[in-house]
Amino acid sequence: MRAAVVTQFRQPLELRDVPIPEPGWGEVLVRVKACGVCHTDLHTIHGDWPVKPSLPRIPGHEAVGEIVALGPGVTRHEVGDRVGVPWLHQACGRCDQCMSGWETLCDQQKRSGYDVDGGFADYVVAKDDFAARLPSGLSYQQAAPLMCAGLTVYKGLMMTDAKPGDWVVVSGVGGLGHLAVQYARAMGFQVIATDIDDPKLSLAAKLGANLTLNVRLTDPVSYLQRNIGGAHAALVTAVSPAAFGQAVGMMRPGGTVVLNGLPPGDFPLSIYDMVMRAITLRGSIVGTRFDLDRALDLAAQARIEATVHPARLEDVNEVLTKLEGSALPGRTVLEL
Ligand code: NAD
Ligand code: ZN
Ligand code: ZN
Repeated sequence: MRAAVVTQFRQPLELRDVPIPEPGWGEVLVRVKACGVCHTDLHTIHGDWPVKPSLPRIPGHEAVGEIVALGPGVTRHEVGDRVGVPWLHQACGRCDQCMSGWETLCDQQKRSGYDVDGGFADYVVAKDDFAARLPSGLSYQQAAPLMCAGLTVYKGLMMTDAKPGDWVVVSGVGGLGHLAVQYARAMGFQVIATDIDDPKLSLAAKLGANLTLNVRLTDPVSYLQRNIGGAHAALVTAVSPAAFGQAVGMMRPGGTVVLNGLPPGDFPLSIYDMVMRAITLRGSIVGTRFDLDRALDLAAQARIEATVHPARLEDVNEVLTKLEGSALPGRTVLEL
């Protein structure tokens, strides 16, 4: 099968012909039809994070496709089922985190396209228990970006504890953010979208953002403090450490900032401001299988749609280079 493989960090993916993987016990083999390209794939390829993937590795954690073979012990799925293969490839099901509804924090978890091979290939193996059933009306192209980007921002927005009518900042309107604008509107929030790129902000406005700010031209902290007394919450998807500190500054007293973006590095935090203004700061990583079902349901009900740019697997390195610089607004999805 065709696969795009990380063989060395910071190098282009190698397009290789590799054997089709065999599904083991409790696993299914999926013929990939589409796979979104997430900025996390770039972090994977660059080896950006403290715990790096072992190489060679096939990235991709927004794969969707059709089950073509079953390993022994499979009970949930059948050949022909349309499924998604999200970041959470597997969790142990027995630890405190798994048992308390936080399987995304399982110590024993395996992640698609990071610890095990992912969807930048013709076929991918998924766990019977963790492959997500796709709603029948949803196209592969539309489903792919929901597997990570949609799920992550749905969960991240839930974690803000914002209420209908609250002002919520979506910082960074790329692949994640353009879906976050739509989810946030569907949840009844008033949305402030911030980015450094005007085409991204135009898309955000088209998708329902109440206010857009180019943070290269307008200081969002003084602007929001002056005009609305600060926002109630923020979801930071920006790939820039500076955006995280800025989001804290954009809060009204008691506000909550949820961190989704994963640029390497850190940002300064004023202890005094955090305490005196009682700001909550929380990280949020993808979502559970339950969250994914909810995210898919809400997308269907509220007609949330990814802005998709189709591309070929052969062009994946070009797509990644663009994603690093100024990508097209929305999500690029590989068609396989
Ligand atoms: P993307 O490249 O499509 O979007 C990032 C956006 O941030 C771009 O529109 C860019 O212009 C904007 N940006 C850059 N600097 C900014 C600044 N200073 N202020 C505001 N906006 C700024 O990337 P993506 O696929 O949406 O992923 C975003 C980040 O989220 C990545 O770091 C990725 O690894 C991470 N991520 C986290 C999770 C999670 O579960 N926590 C899941 C998926 C992705
Ligand atoms: Zn992702
Ligand atoms: Zn566990």
